[in-house]
Amino acid sequence: MNHIACGIVGLFLGICVVLTGTVGISMNSFFFGILYLIISGICAILVTNVFCTKCPIKTSCVHVLPGFIARIWPEKKGPYTTSDLLLTIILFAIIILPPQVFLIAYPGLFVFFWICMILAAICSNRFLCPDCKNQFCPFCRK
Ligand code: SF4
Repeated sequence: MNHIACGIVGLFLGICVVLTGTVGISMNSFFFGILYLIISGICAILVTNVFCTKCPIKTSCVHVLPGFIARIWPEKKGPYTTSDLLLTIILFAIIILPPQVFLIAYPGLFVFFWICMILAAICSNRFLCPDCKNQFCPFCRK
């Protein structure tokens, strides 16, 4: 599959994950659903600061949007420090973990959430990671 097409599919799947989490939380509390959506958006933008700014291929980012936002932040040089990687994991955990508490009551949404997550991971692992030139990334195979 074309890298950009796969990257855009991955971005779309990530957006589906957040929207599914938002719907699941909103079924219990509309306020917390919106709060989750806003916090997830902030976390995603912070990932572009912590991780993507040090990516050597951000000008040709296969996911398009993160690379575009990363170029707005002040330039940073790699490699990633332990705190960069830990912070990135924490930011993704803030996006992924809170909806689980609510989604468990809605099996359809819960399964859809994890199908999107798993497909995004497979798409990256199978089609993007093998040729990715971000040599600082822990998943880089170059
Ligand atoms: S390719 Fe680089 S800029 Fe794009 S999402 Fe991955 S790390 Fe961020």
